[in-house]
Amino acid sequence: MAVTNLRGGVVGNKKIEAPEKVHVYRNWCKTCGICIEFCPKNALGPDPDEYPELIDAEACNLCGLCELRCPDFAISVAKKPKKDKAAPAEKGND
Ligand code: SF4
Ligand code: SF4
Repeated sequence: MAVTNLRGGVVGNKKIEAPEKVHVYRNWCKTCGICIEFCPKNALGPDPDEYPELIDAEACNLCGLCELRCPDFAISVAKKPKKDKAAPAEKGND
């Protein structure tokens, strides 16, 4: 099973690219800037064509506000990685 990691990295001698944290669908984006204004981490900024882009990937905490606030469903945020949960304790048979 493929294991993805938002940080990317090197496995053996293969470089694993980090998947995008935030993806902008330019065909739907009207460059209104709402997502940029609502980002609590100031992680988004306009690119030279005024489309939003992730300018500080480290700051983005995958909160999803940009996706939530976009009126045109033009921005998508990667899912937060699930935390490892300890296996539930087995009930004893005593
Ligand atoms: S809120 Fe949506 S439409 Fe507006 S700039 Fe951001 S991605 Fe584009
Ligand atoms: S997911 Fe949150 S922190 Fe990341 S770019 Fe969107 S609004 Fe900003």
